[in-house]
Amino acid sequence: MVQLRTYSVAEGGCRRCAYRKRAPGDFLCDRCREDRDIERGQKRQDALDAAVIDEFAAKPDRAHEPSNLDCGVSPWNARPRKEPSAAYWSPLPDPEPKSEQLWRESLSDLGWRYSRH
Ligand SMILES: [Zn+2]
Repeated sequence: MVQLRTYSVAEGGCRRCAYRKRAPGDFLCDRCREDRDIERGQKRQDALDAAVIDEFAAKPDRAHEPSNLDCGVSPWNARPRKEPSAAYWSPLPDPEPKSEQLWRESLSDLGWRYSRH
């Protein structure tokens, strides 16, 4: 396979794919040149992104500094949220059973108005 590739390149094939004829004035065919340009652009974009990410990571980790415009309204300056305590998750049992709470029901009203007859 290497021999065939060498032969194709010697015959004027692309240096990269050795399958298509190389473009005039270049050692790659049109398609490989396009791929190379794409890869170069991608590499360049990756380098730019890495630079931006490095710059962001190098910045010190600071809280929000309030300005005259936002007046310090920022989640960074907010108080910590209230968290439910243990008493919320495990409440104490009701000290008085509801059956003994006589004030919950009327003594005289039997609710006859709501019964169907
Ligand atoms: Zn090629």
